Amino acid sequence: MNRLRRGLEFLAVTTVVILVFLACTMVSPGTEEEPSVRASSTPVASATPAVSTPTSTPSPEPAMPTPRCTPTPRNTPTPVSSYTPPVRKGSKYADVEGERGVLNEREYFRTAPGRNQPRVYRLEYHTKLVILDQYKSEFNEIWYRVAVVIDGKTEYGFVQASSVDLGKAKPTPARTGPTSIGDGDTSIRHGEDRDGDGVYVVVLDPGHGGLYYGASHFGAIEKNLNLKVAMACKEHLESTYENVLVYLTRDSDRSIDPVSEVDDLEQRVRVAIDCGADILVSMHFDADGGRHRGAEGLVTKGALNEKSMALSSLILENLEKLGIENLGNHKRRSERSRYSYPDGDYMDGYLINRLAAEKGIVNCIIEHAQMDNEQDFYDFCDTDEKLKKIGIADATGIATYLGLSRKTQ
Ligand SMILES: [Zn+2]
Repeated sequence: MNRLRRGLEFLAVTTVVILVFLACTMVSPGTEEEPSVRASSTPVASATPAVSTPTSTPSPEPAMPTPRCTPTPRNTPTPVSSYTPPVRKGSKYADVEGERGVLNEREYFRTAPGRNQPRVYRLEYHTKLVILDQYKSEFNEIWYRVAVVIDGKTEYGFVQASSVDLGKAKPTPARTGPTSIGDGDTSIRHGEDRDGDGVYVVVLDPGHGGLYYGASHFGAIEKNLNLKVAMACKEHLESTYENVLVYLTRDSDRSIDPVSEVDDLEQRVRVAIDCGADILVSMHFDADGGRHRGAEGLVTKGALNEKSMALSSLILENLEKLGIENLGNHKRRSERSRYSYPDGDYMDGYLINRLAAEKGIVNCIIEHAQMDNEQDFYDFCDTDEKLKKIGIADATGIATYLGLSRKTQ
């Protein structure tokens, strides 16, 4: 993008800046997003957490000193801590009242409920813990306040409920493969612009970055392909259409949360929230053993399912025009989560889908092609020019979904 921007006349840049400024100052501040309740959560139980919520993280080093949503952040982003907590295993149950559970994965032990809360330890698989209370995060996820014995001492903190197998619960069921749900109704569109200011806010998320490489095949690294596609998409949307603001969750080769890749995913959704996103598109390339070709959309299951499918389907249709096989939309369930959507079904398995949907942001994850399939790779992924075409195809699908008008010359 920088390369392309460098070519713009000063006057054009100034005009864009003024337009962006005007568009954003016209926005009413009364949206339903909570700008300043990052650290808060709604207790399900009435008990007060035994561990107080600190106002600062253990490490004062912010991973990202600059605002994440430029040029007009609507909320102040919280810096992500780069403190790497020590790994510990709680190998016996604390001598306190409560239901017993065992961690079914490595999980951070935090000072408050929420993935943006300070990490004290990284607890090993099979750590034994006693559940004292339940809390709900701002994304409606259940968190447990637990007691864990670490180095002979009982410590109190918070872990995410889906990482805990309860004492009497059946073993965690194996994750099922994605369920194919076919094509979306692509006539559903114009549904966004949630703040009604006439400007559509598109947040593009180039998957992975920095420490997180994604897939690596034929000498290419997924994180780099994702970034090139996202930048081309942003460039095309902004240069071709009116009334659209496009933000990237990252515009260089970096991670957002350098300590935890799962927490990094939540941070990407937070960027979208900070930007006032109407839609969020997470951009990836797949690597599924090299046996098949094609692009697929991963869509959210809940109330936004139809819109998510419409957005994803329009992008896939445009990728198909480049010759990329259309593998359709899929959704994945989180069978481990201890909570579900109001229809009783399990929540989305992909964090980006789930957290963005919780905040009312229409979203999808696009796996653009199979980068471990030799034909897909050399047909669509091996040059900047081909990646740019993919970005333009994405932009066209997004513009159709939002009903954007082309700029007049
Ligand atoms: Zn990926």
